Amino acid sequence: MTQSLLDSYHRHIDYLRISVTDRCNLRCIYCNASTMQHLSHDDILRYEEITRVVKAAARLGVKDIRLTGGEPTVRPHVADLVRMIAAVPGIEDISMTTNATRLAEMAQELKDAGVSRVNISLDTFKPERFKAMCGAGRIEDVLEGIEAARKAGLNPVKINTVVLRGVNDDEVVDFARKSVTDGWNVRYIEEMPLVGNDNGHKMVSIEEIKSRIEHELGGLEPCWPTNGHGPAKYFRLPGSPGTIGFIGPVTGCFCETCNRFRLTADGKLRPCLLREDEVDLKPALRSGASEEALEELLMKTAAMKHERHQLAEHISPQGRNMRQIGG
Ligand code: SAM
Repeated sequence: MTQSLLDSYHRHIDYLRISVTDRCNLRCIYCNASTMQHLSHDDILRYEEITRVVKAAARLGVKDIRLTGGEPTVRPHVADLVRMIAAVPGIEDISMTTNATRLAEMAQELKDAGVSRVNISLDTFKPERFKAMCGAGRIEDVLEGIEAARKAGLNPVKINTVVLRGVNDDEVVDFARKSVTDGWNVRYIEEMPLVGNDNGHKMVSIEEIKSRIEHELGGLEPCWPTNGHGPAKYFRLPGSPGTIGFIGPVTGCFCETCNRFRLTADGKLRPCLLREDEVDLKPALRSGASEEALEELLMKTAAMKHERHQLAEHISPQGRNMRQIGG
């Protein structure tokens, strides 16, 4: 590696999150924008094109890849992409963020292809509420998917829960209990004010969630899972096999240690989830640009990375929602 992705604030970018599709089989109330158009087949990057970006990123020091979306498991033959990425020299870890509705059938194939671990989104245990919050799908499939992921050895399985006031906040403690009874690694996420948020912003702060858990179940002990290099702060209930994590992008700011880029399904490289800046890689990918030219574009993106997002100033990106950027 001759050069690396170092931004103007001395942060090394070694983690790339790739949205493999903007399509999703659910319509979560905090994520979907009913008015948003889907990308056309020609707009989205082909697996060969994504792999070229990964190769360039790996040459510049990126080691970890996360596949997300949209819903990554709805893109046909996504395990092929996993295999292509796993073969790239320098890539050490491939993970996936998924709603798990298709994991019962796909977990083993994904594991065999090279996915090491999964983050699964689940906001409720109640079937009717699941339908109301997710707009489609069956909670039974998600619960089966979680078990299939565990059986396949995707480790750890983390459960991501977005807590909305008056919608699912009465289940905060039920999720925490799962860390004791089933060894779940549960992570609570503050709802971000992104475009497509059709629910009128019902964010519950991490501080409030934590204090509700401690009030019901007792004090949480800090812990540091070995692979926890992301924004979550981890705890556990004493003696519990599972962990409880908190991700507070709204009331907190973890930009100082941000090590990531995001690639949208249509080839836009974004240095920050919560800002509009992006560099379009698709013209270069489709016009036979050299490896060096691609690396230049990645370094240009690093140079654009701001010190921090602007949620504290109530400025959030309005151009794309999570489904499009890749959550
Ligand atoms: N379909 C996959 C899934 O459901 O996990 C991957 C994409 S989804 C956009 C990734 C994550 O973003 C999910 O955990 C979801 O809960 C989270 N998310 C989406 N919109 C959000 C918002 N406005 N605030 C906080 N988290 C959000």
